[in-house]
Amino acid sequence: PGLTMYQLFDGKGENEGGSSTFTYLISCDTSKRAILIDPVLEQVERDSTLINTLGLSLKYCLNTHCHADHVTGSGQLKQIFSECQSCISQASGAKADIYFEPNQKFEWAPGHVLNILATPGHTSGCVCFYDSQLGVFTGDTLMIGGCGRTDFQEGDADQLYDSVYERLFVLPDDTIVYPAHDYKGNTSSTIGVEKTTNPRLSKTKSDFVKIMENLNLSYPGKIDIAVPANMKCGVF
Ligand code: FE
Repeated sequence: PGLTMYQLFDGKGENEGGSSTFTYLISCDTSKRAILIDPVLEQVERDSTLINTLGLSLKYCLNTHCHADHVTGSGQLKQIFSECQSCISQASGAKADIYFEPNQKFEWAPGHVLNILATPGHTSGCVCFYDSQLGVFTGDTLMIGGCGRTDFQEGDADQLYDSVYERLFVLPDDTIVYPAHDYKGNTSSTIGVEKTTNPRLSKTKSDFVKIMENLNLSYPGKIDIAVPANMKCGVF
């Protein structure tokens, strides 16, 4: 529908040198304007080469939240593409050029609008980006058969469950779900599939909270570097 999207992937997982992050490059076929959702610092060269090869002009770097597992590429991309502005939610508390408000409609190219869905829970500033034709970019709020952790930053399992049910599971069942990470080789899902099969989120809220309280995950390796860097979100 006048848009082109690339789903890009950073490595295979923390231990193999990548963060397993999906970065999405979306461009408008007529204006050649482009946006990146959740760029990764280590992949700036990959992203900028692709943008230049395709003859696009990068306007915005959008971050779904202040990540704990990798440093955003927003800052370096702003240095390479002088027109580019960094974006993150106001509620994240991070610095950026543009701050998203809940329910905002963000027109990033003529006629192309992303709906900003506030989905606190993994962090209090988490947002998802919804395009009625492409699908929903869910960050770490909803993943394929999973969801983001709620045991650090401002994590709150109760709140994450409500965000998913009130903001995401109300979207049409055939809406494609594009998460910020996958650790098993999956690339996308749908709202309908996650609603019925997600092993955590298809449960009741109290069962979900119990699951999240008992994950016993290790402390994220990069959190002490990534969070302070991402609080600046590409503003130098
Ligand atoms: Fe995260």
